Amino acid sequence: MTQELISIPSVNPFGQEPGVGLREQEVGLRYAELLTEVGCEVLVDEVSAGRPNVIGVLKGSRPGPTLLLTGHLDTVDVTDYDDPFTARIEDGRLYGRGSCDMKAALAAFVEVARVINEHDADFAGELMIAGIADEEDRMIGSVHWSEHGPVPDFAVVGEPTSLKVCPAHKGQYGAKFRTFGTAVHSSIRSEGVNAIEKMADLIAGFADYNDELDSRPAHPLCGNATFSIGTINGGEVMSTVPNFCEIEADRRMVPGETVDQVLAEYNDRLHAVAAADSEFRYELDGPTMSSAVLDTPLDHPIVTTVADETETVLGTPAIIEAFTGATDAPNFHCPAVIMGPGSIAQAHTLDEFVPLSELEAATKIYLRVALSLLS
Ligand SMILES: [Zn+2]
Repeated sequence: MTQELISIPSVNPFGQEPGVGLREQEVGLRYAELLTEVGCEVLVDEVSAGRPNVIGVLKGSRPGPTLLLTGHLDTVDVTDYDDPFTARIEDGRLYGRGSCDMKAALAAFVEVARVINEHDADFAGELMIAGIADEEDRMIGSVHWSEHGPVPDFAVVGEPTSLKVCPAHKGQYGAKFRTFGTAVHSSIRSEGVNAIEKMADLIAGFADYNDELDSRPAHPLCGNATFSIGTINGGEVMSTVPNFCEIEADRRMVPGETVDQVLAEYNDRLHAVAAADSEFRYELDGPTMSSAVLDTPLDHPIVTTVADETETVLGTPAIIEAFTGATDAPNFHCPAVIMGPGSIAQAHTLDEFVPLSELEAATKIYLRVALSLLS
């Protein structure tokens, strides 16, 4: 099933026009069929054209909580990837784009529903399984979910963690900083204002920002917040003093921080640069990208149950740590953990794979978690 899902391209369009292979629709409709075949009631919720969330529900015999098992239907791109959709198995590994990130987990969820359905296993509440659109770019699928529900009682997101249990991750806030100048011929530079030089002053104003963030108390799992400038653009030709420069910076937020707090820190530093230079003209534009932190309490049943069942299946104590990236998880508005087969080290590479042993173990863990939480 994982091989079949890999063989249906669902590359995120990343701002291009969505079309066959460059959207979630084809894999989403197949996922809907697979969920229907194992007894789920299925809703295909088209978030935008060709970009569905696919939600399957298996109902228990009596009232109870709702457990969501979820992952994203899209993958990152395949530029320079040799044979991304063949899904070949070699030396106990399944290779292909989307193998660990994250069609293996999507297939495991269907298998969980199949086993429960075929064995008529008695359970309470609802097992909800969802394939989500657009996690790799703007998260339009889970943002749509966050606005329209439903709100489950707990969730497992099957992103690749090498079967480590991750109840927390940082949030992300992207913003652009612009500086403005006055363009003149470079031979009379003193009559203009150089926006690139003003940007250099701005960047210098943030030079000790990471030191300040490091000096704050660290979150037990997530560590400290970070600030990283990712792009810079400015100037047109060598012989003109530039009137414009722009950077985009990535601020990773730790649990407890708010966007307002980050903006206040940005503005304090900008005001300090401006106070020292009457010619400093700037603009702060954000968010260009925003995703929330995840901070599920370690004693919540979703964390303890996933950890316990992981230990039972693997035979070694579960490793509990923060997930390195941002995920859909906070948008489901319920306590959630991230735990899935394959490693984030292989995700987004040109040699993506999932170890079959981890796929099998993850399936057993998800099944045991479902039967335990919905008992
Ligand atoms: Zn992913």
